[in-house]
Amino acid sequence: MSNYDAIIVGAGHNGLVCATLLAKAGKRVLVLEANASEGGLGASREFHEGFQVPMAHGAASFSSTVLKDLNLAGEGLSFSDALPTVGLSEDGNHVSVVGDSVTGALEADAAAYPAYRAKLKRYAKVLKSIWESTLPRLGAGGLAESLVYAKGALNVRMLGRDDMGEFVRVLTLPMRDLIDEVFEDPKLQGLLSWDGVIGNKMAPRSPNNAVLPLLLRMNGLHDGDHCVPNGGMNALNEALLSAAKKAGVTIRFDAPVAKFIIEGDENGQRATGVELASGEALEASTIVSSADPKTTFMKLVGTRHLDIQFTNRINRLRADGMVAKYHAALSELPKINGLDDLGGRLLIAPTFDAIEFAYDDAKYGEASEHPVMEITFPSLQDPSLAPDGKHVMSVNVMYAPYKEKSGWSDAARSAFLGRVVETLEKYIPGISSLVIAQELLTPADLEAEYHAYGGHWHHGELSLEQALMMRPTYYAAQYNTPIPGVYLCGAGAHPGGGMTGLPGRNAAREILK
Ligand SMILES: Cc1cc2nc3c(=O)[nH]c(=O)nc-3n(C[C@H](O)[C@H](O)[C@H](O)COP(=O)(O)OP(=O)(O)OC[C@H]3O[C@@H](n4cnc5c(N)ncnc54)[C@H](O)[C@@H]3O)c2cc1C
Repeated sequence: MSNYDAIIVGAGHNGLVCATLLAKAGKRVLVLEANASEGGLGASREFHEGFQVPMAHGAASFSSTVLKDLNLAGEGLSFSDALPTVGLSEDGNHVSVVGDSVTGALEADAAAYPAYRAKLKRYAKVLKSIWESTLPRLGAGGLAESLVYAKGALNVRMLGRDDMGEFVRVLTLPMRDLIDEVFEDPKLQGLLSWDGVIGNKMAPRSPNNAVLPLLLRMNGLHDGDHCVPNGGMNALNEALLSAAKKAGVTIRFDAPVAKFIIEGDENGQRATGVELASGEALEASTIVSSADPKTTFMKLVGTRHLDIQFTNRINRLRADGMVAKYHAALSELPKINGLDDLGGRLLIAPTFDAIEFAYDDAKYGEASEHPVMEITFPSLQDPSLAPDGKHVMSVNVMYAPYKEKSGWSDAARSAFLGRVVETLEKYIPGISSLVIAQELLTPADLEAEYHAYGGHWHHGELSLEQALMMRPTYYAAQYNTPIPGVYLCGAGAHPGGGMTGLPGRNAAREILK
């Protein structure tokens, strides 16, 4: 008899959330993680001796429902207040946004911001039950399934007639149209579009529902304002690991899963366990994958177990990452003209067009000539990331296409690194003289190191055709899959990526049904 009821592939945050909830419900759970530590795309990494960075900058997306379900406060987890997001300007006249307050922008824009934010907060609230539900396949199921949609529709109806129409209109807008009908300040426009487009193959003019990821983020803490766990991002991973262990979950690191064991007879197929890269086989009747959908189906399940139409759908999922990560070990904190506090997140995205033009290069397989960026100094929240007096800088850089046209040759990589540093130097003069060591991770590197196809932030575009009851695609969008016994619980499942914990939570509920 197997020692485990469920095997979970991956100890990223969703794998750990799912494992903990299953174990709390009395299941015997084993988590198998390919890497040496937990956290997945949200883990910390040492990139130079004595210098570490968290891969994710903030925990704004994290769901308060997951916090409660896992009692993460009981693990000592707490979060900072909302921190400012600052749109850097070369001349030192930066724009800054936190809560309802906007400084450094046109007065009329600052005055209009609270009403704009209140509207988006209302819409994010309307979607809360949708993010936390399993969305039934259209046309399938009975009364219980229909009630999920009925509840969502009722929430929309409760907005009232005028706001209801506005909600539907706003949901379908490109970021640029959403923002420029209210705001005129170019720096504020760039800043406000950032959270709709980052992580996806999208720019402010892209028509494919950038408002959706923005509203998912706003379902998290501080209504989507930047925030960090007290003690730094690693505190979140540590709390999740501790909750899992307390619930009785067994976790094995350095344990890459090579394939799922699927047995079949005239009555159909069923997963019965997994085989590790080492050849070791482990049995369980429930296999839950927090790996991205392409990896899960094409590699771990294998196409011979899937029908051709489903295989085609998975093959065609849009999941090519667009974000690179630049890390620098600094001899000291830089000084930025016009900015005293470096504890928030800083954007180099001075206008809509700066983001759009950076994106245009990447559409044709080239890394941006003039990249746009999100910068943090994580050692300000967690001094243990760098030796005394020294600091680390972490930068999300857009756009860096996964399928760069030279295949990320050494020349392409080094040219892009040069452009990243050159851009940083323009906004933070003198920064390069503080750099002790640096690394640039392209989406291809992220794929290799974190086992996520395309190095994609969301394990697959969070765009309308890959969202809601279609995420990642039909016949795998309710956490179960065409193979009985195989479930999805990672960012590739509804409601998507970012560190929300919701796919892990929702999947556990489905598995326990
Ligand atoms: C550069 C970058 C920056 C980001 N910054 C932020 C941010 O600031 N805020 C935010 O909210 N989100 C951010 N994100 C997105 C967020 O990190 C991801 O959406 C989130 O981590 C996904 O969580 P997950 O648990 O679903 O998957 P993952 O974190 O990808 O975890 C999956 C785990 O499964 C393991 N695995 C995969 N295949 C196997 C296998 N065969 N065998 C064993 N183990 C396997 C992997 O090693 C990994 O540990 C960022 C993403 C990137 C790429």
